[in-house]
Amino acid sequence: MWKGMDEHDIIPVCPVCGQPVRQRDASGAYRGWHVQCDSRMRAAMDAKRRARQAEELDERLRYWSAMLTDATGDIRVSVIDRNTVAAERDHWAAVLTVERCRQAILAMRMTPDEVNRYRDPWLRRLCADIGRDGMDLIADRVGWSGARPWRRDPATARDGTLHAAGQLPVPADPDTREGYRGDLERSPGAALTVMGALDHIWKEDNTGTPGEPGPWRLR
Ligand SMILES: [Zn+2]
Repeated sequence: MWKGMDEHDIIPVCPVCGQPVRQRDASGAYRGWHVQCDSRMRAAMDAKRRARQAEELDERLRYWSAMLTDATGDIRVSVIDRNTVAAERDHWAAVLTVERCRQAILAMRMTPDEVNRYRDPWLRRLCADIGRDGMDLIADRVGWSGARPWRRDPATARDGTLHAAGQLPVPADPDTREGYRGDLERSPGAALTVMGALDHIWKEDNTGTPGEPGPWRLR
């Protein structure tokens, strides 16, 4: 008698070939499938395991896609809010740029000795705001023949302090794929350079013929 043999044991059906399995394993119990079907059985089990793994990875991928959609939505809202603030702030910077340029023009016109001496803290702050390149540009436009002390002032950077924050591109809406970019793009002009400010002032002030170096309105 086989150990563990039982008259009432149900003879299994081989899941690979569909035939009854009368073969027994070392313990005497019926095998689940035929010895000759073994390699096909293993292949089938491997395939099942791979399919389960793929399903699990798909599930994880769906999870992270959803997380990414949420995160994109958050970034999008942050960029829109940030751009709204930047537009306001850059408008202020543009107004300040025009104001500073006009002040520099006035200083060269009305107090050239002060500019040459370069001792007045107000003047030095003005130069620091406009920057070395901007001050050179103003001096060129005004026809300034005095010293250019801002060039050797370590407190004055090349491009000054009046930088525009500018507008960041808004990521596409992760849900609707609609954007509000059109609204934001209607508020440009924030990035006003010294060159742009001078052109603006020139248009306001210039009553001479084209090519004349002035006049710059003194007020
Ligand atoms: Zn079989």
